Amino acid sequence: MVNRQRMVEEFLELVKIDSLTFEEKEMAGYLKAKLNDLGFAVEEDDTGKKIGGNSGNLICKVEGNKNVPAVLLMAHMDTVTPGIGKKPVVDGKYIRSDGNTILGGDDVAGIECILEAVRVLKENSISHGDIIIVFTVAEEGGLWGAKNLDMSKINAKYAFVMDDGGSIGHVAVTAPAQNKIDVTITGKAAHAGMEPEKGISAIQIASEAISGMRLGRIDAETTANVGVITGGQATNIICDKVEIKAEARSLDMKKLERQTEHMKECFHNAAQKIGGEVVFKSELLYPSFSVSENDDIIKILRRASNKVGVELLTEATGGGSDTNIINSKGIKAVNVSVGMDKVHSVEEQICIDDLEKAAEFLVSIITMVE
Ligand SMILES: [Zn+2]
Repeated sequence: MVNRQRMVEEFLELVKIDSLTFEEKEMAGYLKAKLNDLGFAVEEDDTGKKIGGNSGNLICKVEGNKNVPAVLLMAHMDTVTPGIGKKPVVDGKYIRSDGNTILGGDDVAGIECILEAVRVLKENSISHGDIIIVFTVAEEGGLWGAKNLDMSKINAKYAFVMDDGGSIGHVAVTAPAQNKIDVTITGKAAHAGMEPEKGISAIQIASEAISGMRLGRIDAETTANVGVITGGQATNIICDKVEIKAEARSLDMKKLERQTEHMKECFHNAAQKIGGEVVFKSELLYPSFSVSENDDIIKILRRASNKVGVELLTEATGGGSDTNIINSKGIKAVNVSVGMDKVHSVEEQICIDDLEKAAEFLVSIITMVE
C-alpha cells in the first residue's frame, strides 16, 4: 500500500527546498499545495508574525469516518544549517547529502511519512478517525512553532510527533526539561604588567566557578554543560568581561532546579572570593514529559507494531522536541522514529527501507486508534 518509489521521489523534492528556521515560507507553500491537491483544506496560523519568521504553522484537518478519538500528526518544516542548496544523493539503499550540507531528513522524513500515510488511507478507503496534521515552523533552536500553536484548533486525544531517529519502532516516551543559562561576569580592567593589583579578572572568576562545578552526566536523569565561553581582548589587559552559555537538563523538574541552583552558586561564590560581579540568567526552554507504559497511547503503538512486524522500543531521549510542548499543552504525545540518522551533520542520511517502514507503521498507528 505504501508506495516506496513515490515516497523517495517526494522526499528528494522536499529536501531540495531551502527551509532554514524562520525561513520556511517556500516549504510551507509547497506542502499547502500538496495537501490541497489531496483534497484537504490547510490553514496557516499567525505564528510567523509572532516569532519573526516568514511562515506560520500549517494546520490541516483530514475528516474521519470512524467514531474514535482524533489524532494529531506532527513534523517540523525547518532545518538547521548548513541547509542552503541541499543536493540529495541516492546511494543504494541510502539517501545522503552531497557532503556540503545537511540532508534535511530531519524532519522531511517525518513530513513524508505523514503525507504518504494520509494518501494511503485515502487511496485504499481505509476507515479512520479525524486526523489533524500540523507542520510546525522553528522547531530547531527553541520549539517556537509548537509553543505558539493555538491548541483550541487541535481537538485531538493523542499526538504522534514524527521526528526521532533510531530503528523503526523506536518511540521516545520521556524527555528531559531544559534550562538555558546565560552568565555575564564583570571584573575590572587594568594593565596586566604595570598595575595588575587594580584589576579583577573575569576569566579567573569563570575558571574558579567552572572548575568546582558538577557537569556532564549528573545522574541517570540529569545532565549539564558549559558550551560557550567568550571574553578578553589582549594579554596585557586584565579581562573585565566574560560571557558564558550553559545548559542543564533533567527528566525531574526538582533535580533540574537543584542543578541550576548549584551552577549559580558556583559563579556567585567565585565572584565573592575573587571580587567582581555575576549576572546569572536561567530560562526554562521546555518542560519534561513522561508517558507511562500503561497509557492508552502505548497500547495503540503496541497493536500497530504487532500488525506491521516492527519491534516497539519505548525509550527515554536526552533531546527536546515539539513532543515536550504538546504534552505540556495537555495532549498525550510521543516522538516516533522515522529513521533519520546522523542528523545536524553533513553526514546525515536515511535508509529508504526505514522511510518506507516508518510510513507503514504510521498507517497502522492511525488505524489502531480506538
Ligand atoms: Zn527534528
